[in-house]
Amino acid sequence: MSSRTEIATLGEFGLIRHLTEDIKLKNESTLKGIGDDAAVLDYQDKLTLVTTDLLLEGVHFDLTYVPLKHLGYKSAVVNFSDIYAMNGFPRQITVSIGLSKRFSVEDMEELYSGIRLACDVYGVDLVGGDTSASLTGLSISITCIGEGEKGKVVYRNGAHETDLICVSGDLGAAYMGLQLLEREKRVFQGEKDFTPDFSGKEYLLERQLKPEARKDIIEKLRKANVLPTAMMDISDGLSSELLHISKESHVGCRVYEDRIPIDYQTAVMAEQFNMNLVTAALNGGEDYELLFTVPLTDHEKVSEMEGIKIIGHITKAELGNFLVGRDGGEVELKAQGWNSLN
Ligand SMILES: [Mg+2]
Repeated sequence: MSSRTEIATLGEFGLIRHLTEDIKLKNESTLKGIGDDAAVLDYQDKLTLVTTDLLLEGVHFDLTYVPLKHLGYKSAVVNFSDIYAMNGFPRQITVSIGLSKRFSVEDMEELYSGIRLACDVYGVDLVGGDTSASLTGLSISITCIGEGEKGKVVYRNGAHETDLICVSGDLGAAYMGLQLLEREKRVFQGEKDFTPDFSGKEYLLERQLKPEARKDIIEKLRKANVLPTAMMDISDGLSSELLHISKESHVGCRVYEDRIPIDYQTAVMAEQFNMNLVTAALNGGEDYELLFTVPLTDHEKVSEMEGIKIIGHITKAELGNFLVGRDGGEVELKAQGWNSLN
């Protein structure tokens, strides 16, 4: 970027005003957004859902390969994903940022352009937040507020024996995208004139850098009159999330290796990295797909839905949690999580 304006030229209030002054409110539930001591929301007879997420530079993101606009977009979207995972709709967010002197007004404009794009795409109002100088790096904390209908909010604890286990989209691509970026970063650090070659791998990068939340799946299920018995979003890997549902619902599960949805590019990349593809899909994380269970009576409805795959079924708790391999052999599911894969 050519010009650089120091944050100090605007000051804290000036910066917030600069980044948010032209925001137009979209939701009826937002009575007052930015501009007073607190936002005012009116959810009338709806349930209010609240989720929050803290992202720290060097721990959750690496600015050597993540553009600030993408970071802003992703920070907002991962929160929306948690609200959809409750079968709700996100309506408002607050954004709090800590930033060191390294960052300029233009940098914050980039970050906010990503956050605001996500808000426009998903119909969410930015209603407040805070900024503060920090000694090192960038930290972003976003709180999202959403609405759910009474009796329609879906928790992790409602899965029953014989329920079908479903996932949206495909798994493991975001993790492969991260591996790819990490590899190019290592190569880049050793060379002067380096242009990374990502051709043919765009999908993996997009899944890592610009994930989407599955609003469409929530709308589809609603339209088809399917109410999941349990649901969550897949942020730490399918394995780990399945175990959460089993534990909270006091059940067990069987999922089938050959039913796990994996994109072609993910498979190619796993082969290049000499990694086990199923391990990557089970433990990769950051997929932001939905994992949910439905009663057996909804089998026909969900099997006809595009973008949803039935990967297994719920069992009695005593039967444990297992992946059934292509050869029929069973492997116990472990909560490996994506962090331990690095
Ligand atoms: Mg979640």
